[in-house]
Order: sequence, then C-alpha cells, then structure tokens
Amino acid sequence: MERGYRVGGWRDGSRIVVTPARARAVPPPAAGVMPLIDALKQAYPDAACALTHQNPFQLLVATILSAQCTDARVNLVTPGLFAAHPDAASMSRVSQEDLEEIIRSTGFFRNKAKSIRGAAQRIEAEFGGKVPRTMDALLSLPGVARKTANVVLGVGFGIADGVVVDTHVARLSRRLGLTRETGPEAIERDLMRTVPREEWIAWSHLLIFHGRQVCQARAPLCDRCTLRAFCPSAPYFLAGSKPPWEGKAGRVTPGPRVARKKAPTARAKPAAKRAAAGARKKK
Ligand code: SF4
Repeated sequence: MERGYRVGGWRDGSRIVVTPARARAVPPPAAGVMPLIDALKQAYPDAACALTHQNPFQLLVATILSAQCTDARVNLVTPGLFAAHPDAASMSRVSQEDLEEIIRSTGFFRNKAKSIRGAAQRIEAEFGGKVPRTMDALLSLPGVARKTANVVLGVGFGIADGVVVDTHVARLSRRLGLTRETGPEAIERDLMRTVPREEWIAWSHLLIFHGRQVCQARAPLCDRCTLRAFCPSAPYFLAGSKPPWEGKAGRVTPGPRVARKKAPTARAKPAAKRAAAGARKKK
C-alpha cells in the first residue's frame, strides 16, 4: 500500500480511500505558541467569557443554554431566568414545562431544560447545593461534557484543568497548525500539550474573540490579521484558495469495488427498449 494513505473498509466489503494523511498534516508554527498568545492579548486585552452570570451555578446554566445558540441570545434569556431561579435550590424545584417556556428561544429547549433541572437536582442532592470544583464531579452532572466543565472550572473558579474547545477554538487551532484533529477531545489533548497551562483559560477567550472578529469560518480576514506572520494557513487564504488541512478531515473516494458498475438488467432498460425487444421476439 502506498505510504501516507489510509485505506479502510465498510462492512459490506467495499473499500474507501481517504486523502493522504500527510497532505492533511498541519505545519506547526515555527516560533511556538507564545508569540501568538502575546499578539492576541495585545489585540484583545479585554477578552473574557461573554455569558452574563453572578456565580458558578449561573455560569453552568448559561453554558448549557449556549449550546447551538449565540451568547447574545442566552444573555437575553438569563436575566429573567436567574431573577426567578437564582440558585440550584430554586432551579431544582422549577417544573419542566415552566423552564421550557422561559428558555424556549435558545433552541433545543426540552433537552436543555432537562439537563438544567437534572444538574440542579444533583447539585442539591450530592454537592450540598454548591457547584463542584472538580472535572470528574462536573462530568457527573446531566448535560455537562468537557467543554461546559472547562468553562465552569476556568471562568467560575479560575481552575485550569483543561482547555475549552468550541467551534472557534477548534477551527483556529487547526488553521494555526496546533492540531490536525477534528474531535474536540483530541484537539483539547493537543492544545494541553502545546499551550502553557497558565494560558489555558485565556487561550480559549482569545481564540473565540479572534474567531468572531477576524478568523471567521467562511471568509477569514487574513490581510488584517495580527497572526498572519505566524499562520501556516494565511498564504493559502491570501492566494484565494484553502489550505489542504481545511475542511473535512478526509475526502472519501469510492474504491474499486464501489466504483465497479453492474451490468444493466432487463428491469433497468427503459420501457421503450423493452417494448421494442418484445416486438422483435414476436416477429
Ligand atoms: S492569518 Fe488568516 S487563517 Fe490565520 S489566524 Fe489569521 S485570519 Fe485566521
């Protein structure tokens, strides 16, 4: 097998050929990550969590609500929600229907309401009404995965136990050559190896700000980007193309067994041809 290619197979025996692994590898920034962080801190000195909250519990709720929803929308909903249910004790008693009604505009409101009520009830029952401060305990709450747990630990308690990986952090980390992974947990592992621990919390805020304002998904503004000199993707975008590591991880191409065409059957023949063939037989 040619080196650099990954070949896999489906259960039905057909084969797939994935784009060369080496072509998707992202060159890491030559100068390391600190120049990037310094440049971003200069550009966004006020970078911080945009979700309005007064305490770790409200931050937890706001982060659950922010899934598939903008922070601005969440910030429109949470003042009323927190006025009525400011803590875990109160939130654990609200009915599913009432909570759904309050948070409806954030989308996926049924699941979000279930998660928020479940998390509040568990915090009341297992953690004395206080949001736990460890990754394992946070992950035991309904609706809480690593991203939410990292937000609560980092922003709520100032604890750097991991790196928040949202859509902006994932996209920019790939473009900047810090990972070639696509799954959030694998990206987080790469970032935890590359970014100094004391910068883990700031890193996500900086990349989220930069992703929103400059390095947007469809049209990154490389010509005015403060990271242009460090970014391996910039030459591609500036030339009007995409870097080879941009987009989906692997383009799936049908292998020989998928591509082979079956001989046409009588059923596959157009009706007119079948009629003509029948007429010839009769003669
Ligand atoms: S140079 Fe372009 S691709 Fe690289 S971080 Fe800046 S905007 Fe994004």
